[in-house]
Amino acid sequence: MQTTKLTKEDILPLTCSRSGTCCFGKAVWLNPWEILCFSKEKKVTVREFRDFYCEFGGIKLRFDGKQDNKGQQACSQYVDNAGCSVHLGRPLACRLYPLGRQIQFNNSEYMYQGDQFPCLNDCAEVLELPKMSVGDYIKAQEAGEFEKAQDEYLIIMQNIADVGFALLLESGLSESGDTKTLAAWRIIGNEAPEVLAVRIGQEWIDYLMIPTITDTTQNPVVFAQKHNEYLLEKAQEKFGAIQTFEELHEASVLMIAVALHLAKGLGADTKGIAEHWIETAKSHGALE
Ligand code: SF4
Ligand code: SF4
Repeated sequence: MQTTKLTKEDILPLTCSRSGTCCFGKAVWLNPWEILCFSKEKKVTVREFRDFYCEFGGIKLRFDGKQDNKGQQACSQYVDNAGCSVHLGRPLACRLYPLGRQIQFNNSEYMYQGDQFPCLNDCAEVLELPKMSVGDYIKAQEAGEFEKAQDEYLIIMQNIADVGFALLLESGLSESGDTKTLAAWRIIGNEAPEVLAVRIGQEWIDYLMIPTITDTTQNPVVFAQKHNEYLLEKAQEKFGAIQTFEELHEASVLMIAVALHLAKGLGADTKGIAEHWIETAKSHGALE
């Protein structure tokens, strides 16, 4: 889809009219830090928040509330006439809307979808309200900590994938002439999140989205780094002693699936990432 790129100095009608129309019919993708923030605000456990209010193991917020006049359902956190019930714990996508944040090759940029400012679809009255710069808007939304979480989880995505690479490239599997592992990576890159969630299975979905991390912190970077260590420990525990090529294949595919599921929750292009990883593996001797 076409996007309009923005600088932090761009001035836009970013004063929300608070009609709440954008809390209907949207896809809000989540990372594990965002589930934790939601659960604290809602005063439930992370597992309860994930199970009651999320889809696909936790990477997407459920929109199963009442319908608007276009037949679009409200977010599970939306309360009629009151708005967002978890405003202080809302995720990055909601903090930035109508803007989005794209990350490519370690650079991030702000943009909106299409060539017309999104709020004008339902809230044309924003044109009458004060305008502000993109930079001031992001500051006012207190999006900084959530952006740090997103950046850190992109690093973790790559770290999980690196385990999948090692299981293929450093175990003798690729040297054995294996071709089915990269073929499976390609299939996974095209899989819908509901299919990928089933493929990954409950145990690894829970490690990924609702990790058991005691001593939780207010700092998203520290939390994400602890989560990274936790995931790598689990991989070591599960795959440290495997020996057969079939086991190595399955473990490599599982780790790439976990990394891509996280990528989906970060709003990344999973197909493009899978293709990039396949080319990288091939350049290190893997076969397809
Ligand atoms: S569409 Fe824009 S102006 Fe309308 S409620 Fe959403 S953010 Fe506010
Ligand atoms: S979390 Fe809150 S702000 Fe975000 S879509 Fe749901 S109700 Fe709206």
